[in-house]
Amino acid sequence: MHIRQPIVAVLGHVDSGKTSLLDKIRGTGVQAREAGGITQHIGASFLPTETLKKVCGPLFAKMGGENQEIPGLLVIDTPGHEIFTNLRARGGSAADIAILVIDVNRGFQPQTNESLKILQSRKVPFVIALNKVDMVSGWKKNPPTKFITQSVKEQDSFVQTALDELLYNVVGTLSVLGYNSEAFYRVKDFLKEVAIVPVSARSGEGMPELLAVLVGLTQQYMQKKLDQTEKQTRGIVLEVKEEIGLGMTANIILIDGTLKKSDFILVAKRDSVIVTKPKAILLPKPLDEMRDPRDKFRPVNEVVAAAGIKIASPDLEGALPGSPVYATTDESKIEEFKKLIESEMKSVFIKTDTKGVI
Ligand code: GDP
Repeated sequence: MHIRQPIVAVLGHVDSGKTSLLDKIRGTGVQAREAGGITQHIGASFLPTETLKKVCGPLFAKMGGENQEIPGLLVIDTPGHEIFTNLRARGGSAADIAILVIDVNRGFQPQTNESLKILQSRKVPFVIALNKVDMVSGWKKNPPTKFITQSVKEQDSFVQTALDELLYNVVGTLSVLGYNSEAFYRVKDFLKEVAIVPVSARSGEGMPELLAVLVGLTQQYMQKKLDQTEKQTRGIVLEVKEEIGLGMTANIILIDGTLKKSDFILVAKRDSVIVTKPKAILLPKPLDEMRDPRDKFRPVNEVVAAAGIKIASPDLEGALPGSPVYATTDESKIEEFKKLIESEMKSVFIKTDTKGVI
């Protein structure tokens, strides 16, 4: 069994704090430099287990992290539900798990509902980050290293009551929508209840818990999905663009398998399927090796999922963001994958016509 890192996406209403939360997650990784730090991918950041262990402290073991099967978390850097809605792969998702961010003082907002519908339709499990707890009236800030449960206990009782009320507003709305949910420290069964983690993307309070809950959930319940034994190499196109010195490129989240430079790569364009051998597979250079800002990438011959990568090839002109990606060394399989992509694309366009949204 070889378990890959789960892919995490962040979504929620505008201004709920998605970008700040992602910045904080990256910052937390950078601070844990001596533990293993953080590795920059294309469009994603990788937090290795050692880093998560350091950040989460004793919580890591408590949440089931001590089995140490997942090698860390790959967090997609761009927030927003475009990651899901652009995704043309049938029922699929670039993410294995999501963080749904809700502003504690505002509760459910229109795009919170939209995000939830998307997660539902894609069958992506999620955790709620109840953000901006530092904005709860009367909140006394604690150092970010402090666990949120401790932070809450140290608040005046009227603040604790206010937080509970705000939290139970969210629980109430979710229950109307058919979800059981609870503050993560009161959750009894993580399979039946959505965990709500109060956090502040500004002060950092609650971040260790949020990461520990993600590790615990993926570690305990996603092993089969994450196991790479005999997994077909596949991914999703996030972005297609021309880069100086590289020509046409596609940023891809590699979800499963190993992508080799010698592989045939298949992606969709509007009315056909592109089959290409990449000119280069690229990863970002580590910061300390980047002498010239124009020279950002390093070529590799192969890359193992999960990863955020860039491939360069003149054939990528017209490739569609959101397209599924398949790769194979076996030329005789090309037709099979072409058909697969065509049927995935067709099914999505029909869906778009009838429902108008995803
Ligand atoms: P996004 O639109 O969901 O990506 O939200 P942003 O991350 O851009 O945040 C929107 C605003 O809320 C910005 O002014 C942030 O500084 C602020 N913000 C985000 N998280 C927090 C938080 O935890 N506490 C406070 N006080 N402000 C926050």
